[in-house]
Amino acid sequence: MAMTIARKPKPASKKPAKPAGKSSKSVKRVYFFGNGKAEGNAGMKDLLGGKGANLADMTLVPLPVPPGFTITTDTCGDYNDAGQRLPKGLMEEVRANIAKVEKATGKRFGDAANPLLVAARSGAKFSMPGMMDTVLNIGLNDKAVEGLAKLSNNERFAYDSYRRLINMFGDTVMGVDHHHFEHELSAVKRAKGVELDTQLDVDGLKEVVDRYKAVYEKHVGSPFPNDPYEQLEAAIEAVFKSWMGDRAIKYRELNDIRGVRGTAVNVQAMVFGNMGDDSATGVAFTRDPSTGENVFYGEFLVNAQGEDVVAGIRTPLECKTEMGKWSQRSWKELQNVKSVLEKRYKDVQDFEFTIEKGKLYMLQTRNGKRTAQAAVRIAVEMVKERLIDEKTAILRVEPASLDQLLHPTFDPSADKQVIATGLPASPGAAVGKIAFTAEEAEQRVAAGEKIILVRRETEPADIGGMHVSEGILTSTGGMTSHAAVVARGMGTPCVAGAGAVEIDAANKTCRINGKTYGPNDWLSLDGGKTPAGEVYEGQVPTVEATLSGAFAQIMKWADKYRTLKVRTNADTPHDSEVARGFGAEGIGLTRTEHMFFDPQRIHNMREMILATDTAGRERALAKLLPYQKEDFVGIFTAMKGLPVTIRLLDPPLHEFLPHGEKDQRALAESLGMSFEQVKNRVQQLHEANPMLGHRGDRLAITYPEILIMQVRAIIEAAVECKKAGIKVLPEIMIPLAGTKQELDFLKKHTVETANAVFKETKTRVDYMYGTMIEVPRAAITADELAETAEFFSFGTNDLTQMTFGYSRDDAGSFLPEYVKKEILERDPFQSLDTGGVGKLVGMAVKLGRSTKSNLKCGICGEHGGDPRSVEFCHQVGLDYVSCSPFRVPIARLAAAHAAIKQNGAKPSKKK
Ligand code: ADP
Ligand code: MG
Ligand code: MG
Repeated sequence: MAMTIARKPKPASKKPAKPAGKSSKSVKRVYFFGNGKAEGNAGMKDLLGGKGANLADMTLVPLPVPPGFTITTDTCGDYNDAGQRLPKGLMEEVRANIAKVEKATGKRFGDAANPLLVAARSGAKFSMPGMMDTVLNIGLNDKAVEGLAKLSNNERFAYDSYRRLINMFGDTVMGVDHHHFEHELSAVKRAKGVELDTQLDVDGLKEVVDRYKAVYEKHVGSPFPNDPYEQLEAAIEAVFKSWMGDRAIKYRELNDIRGVRGTAVNVQAMVFGNMGDDSATGVAFTRDPSTGENVFYGEFLVNAQGEDVVAGIRTPLECKTEMGKWSQRSWKELQNVKSVLEKRYKDVQDFEFTIEKGKLYMLQTRNGKRTAQAAVRIAVEMVKERLIDEKTAILRVEPASLDQLLHPTFDPSADKQVIATGLPASPGAAVGKIAFTAEEAEQRVAAGEKIILVRRETEPADIGGMHVSEGILTSTGGMTSHAAVVARGMGTPCVAGAGAVEIDAANKTCRINGKTYGPNDWLSLDGGKTPAGEVYEGQVPTVEATLSGAFAQIMKWADKYRTLKVRTNADTPHDSEVARGFGAEGIGLTRTEHMFFDPQRIHNMREMILATDTAGRERALAKLLPYQKEDFVGIFTAMKGLPVTIRLLDPPLHEFLPHGEKDQRALAESLGMSFEQVKNRVQQLHEANPMLGHRGDRLAITYPEILIMQVRAIIEAAVECKKAGIKVLPEIMIPLAGTKQELDFLKKHTVETANAVFKETKTRVDYMYGTMIEVPRAAITADELAETAEFFSFGTNDLTQMTFGYSRDDAGSFLPEYVKKEILERDPFQSLDTGGVGKLVGMAVKLGRSTKSNLKCGICGEHGGDPRSVEFCHQVGLDYVSCSPFRVPIARLAAAHAAIKQNGAKPSKKK
C-alpha cells in the first residue's frame, strides 16, 4: 500500500532541518478514518489538528462519522516553508485514501452515475473558529450533478449542492468576492419572486449555477474546473494557504498561539443536510456555554448545508424546544450523543452534526469555548457528577479568565431604560459610545474612548475592533453567530440579534425604538441578563463583583492545593478591604508616595523639597507625619493582623513639583519664596535619566530625615493600633538598594527611630526590615544584602527595565515589533522573562537563603498577577506574590495550577 511514500529532499526552506525522526526520508502524511477504524486518535492533535484527531476518535467510539482522511499539520508547515508548494507524493497518498473512502461509501470520486463528494476542511491543533477555509461538495461537475440528481431522486438538491460548490470554491479557493455570487442569487430570487433560497425551484437553481459559472469565469479568467482531482488539490492548497492568511495570523496573535506549524486538512465524504425536509444541519454544546447550565444547547436548520446555521441567512431553530416536534428520533439520538461525548471527553463539547434523510452524522467535536462564569460552574458541577476530580476542575478554569468575573455588573438599583433586547450572547456589563465599524472602534479606543461596537453581524475581519470594544451589539444572528462565539471567547459582553436596532452604518446612525443614536451617544448593555440581553440608553452605573457560589467553591479548592501565598498591592484602606474580600493574605506593597498627592499634602511635600536646609525639611516633614500615620492606621486596621509591607519614598522628587510657570509662581507666593528660587530648584532637580537617578533609597541616603519621618509614622501607627487591640505586622521596605552598605546605613536610622518611638510610647511592636531587589547588583550580591535584610521583595518592573536596559516608559515603541519578529516570545513587562530576569530572581533567592535560611521572599511587580509569572514564582520557591486587588483570585488560582502541575500529580480523570 502506498501509505508511506519516499520523499525527495524539500526545496530550499527557511527553517532549519527538522528533528531526527521526522527528517527520515519517508513521512506518513495522510491518516484514514472510517467504518469504526481509524489510524489517528484523540491524542494526535499536534499532527492531525483538533478536528482530525477527534474525527478519528469519534469513529473509534463508534459514533456515526462519514469516512475520510486527515492530511497532517506538518504537511502544511512543509508547504508554506517551501514557498507554497505541495510536497512530492502527497497527491498520490491522497488518491490512495480517496480509494479507501470510495470503498467505504460505495461511491466513486468523479463518477457520473454515483459520484462521491467530499469536503476539504481546515483544522489546526487549537480551534480557530471561522478563521480558515472549508470547501464542501468537491467532486461535482456538469455530469456528476446529473448523476447525483438521479441517484438522490432529488434534482433540486443536486443543483443546490452544485451552486454551493461553485460559490465556495470561487470564493475561498480562487478569491472571488462572495458578494458577486450573492448578487446573482438575489437577482434570481427576485426574478422568481421568492424570499428564501430554500424556496427556489430546480430551474431557479440551474439558473443560479449558470450565473455562478459566468461570475467565476469572469473573475478567475478560466472556466470552473470539471476535474474533481483538480478541485481537490486546489482546495487542499487553499486550506494550507488560509493558515497564513491575515485573519488567521491576527487570531493567533490575539490568542497567543505559537509554535504551531500549520493546519491539517480533513477530506471527508459529504453527507447532506439539504436533501429535503427530512434533512437538517446544526451545531450544539453539551451545556450552556454562556451560563454553564447543564442543558442541551443547540440550533438546527432544516434542509440546509454547512455554514447556513452560523451565517444568519435563515434564523435557526432551538433544538431543545423545536427538534422534538420535527423528529422525535433525531432528538433522542442527539441527547444520547450529548452524554456519550461528555463521558468520553470529560468536558463540555461543542459539536456539529448533519441529519441526512433522518440519519444522524457527527461532523466535529471539540472542547467548547465558554465564558469564565460557565467554566467555573461546569468545573464545579462536573466534580459533583463525578466526571472529573477537584484538581482537574481547578485546571479547567483559566486563571486569566477570572478577570471576567471580577468585573462590575450593573447596579441593580440604577435607573435603567431598556431600549432594546436581544440574545444574552456573552455576559457582563458594558458601557460605551457607539461605533459602527471595527476599524472605527480601533481608532477611537486608541484615542482613549470607550466603545460599544454596533453591527448587523460581525465577521472574522472584525476581530481587532471586537477585541478593543467594551461590548458588542448586533441586530441579526443567533447564539452561535460569529459575534456571539467570538465575544464569549474574549469575555466581552455581547447582546446579539437585537432586531429592534436598525443600523444605517453609512450615515453612522442607528434607530432604536423610534429614536436615532450616533457616535456620540452612550449605550449600556447587559449580555448576561436572562432570558434576554438588554440594551439601555446612556451610561448605567455599575457595581463591583463578589466571590460567591461556584466561584467561591473553585477558589476554596485552589487554596487547598496551592502553597504560594497571595498578597496585594494596596495604598489605601479601601483597596486593602477589597483585596481582603478577594482573599489577599497581606499587603506586599504599599507605595507611600501615592499618599502625598492630596492637595494639602502635596503642598507640604513641596515645601519639604524646596527647603534649603535640613531644619527646613524637618519642619515640612513634621506636617506630613500625621497624615502618613493616619494612612497606616487605616491600612493596618483594614488588614486585621496580616503582614503589611510598606515601601519608603521611591520616585524622584521632581515628580512632586509643578512644571508650568503659573503653578510655580503660585507655589512661590504661598511659600514666601521668589519665583526664580522655585524655578531654579525645579531645574536643579531635572535629570537626564530620572529612572536611573536620584530616587529610591538614594533619597533617604541624602535626606535621612525623610526616612526618619516615614519610619516614625509607621511605628507610631503600629503602636497606636496595638494599643487599640489590633494586631499589626509592619514590614519596612527599602526601594532600589544595590549594596549592603546602603541597607546598613538606612537600618541604623530605622532602628534608632523605632526605638525612640518605643521609648516615648512605652510600647514595643515587632517589625521587619527588608529590601526590594530591583537593581541587578542587588540580585548578584543577594547573599550580602541578606546579612542586613530580613526579607526580599522582587520589584520585577524595575528589575526587568535594568536587566534588559529597556526603559519602561519608552519600550512600547519597539517591543511589539520584537514580539512580532519573535526576538522576544512576549513583552517582558507583562510576563516575566524567566530565562533572564527570572534567572536573577532564582539566583537571588538561593544566595539570600544561603545567608539567612528563613529569608522571606516575594514579588510585587505587575508580574504578580500574571498567571505565567505566578507559576514561575512558585517554581523558584518564593513565599508569596503580590498583585493588584482585582487580580488576587487570578493569582490564587494560578498558584494552585502551579502546585498541581509541579507535583506531577497528573490529575486523575476518573474518581
Ligand atoms: P469550521 O472549522 O469553520 O467549523 P468545518 O470544517 O467544520 O469548518 O466546516 C463547516 C461546516 O461545513 C460544518 O459545520 C458542516 O456543517 C459542513 N461540513 C463539513 N464537513 C462536512 C461533511 N463531510 N458533510 C457535510 N457537511 C459538512
Ligand atoms: Mg466546524
Ligand atoms: Mg521600583
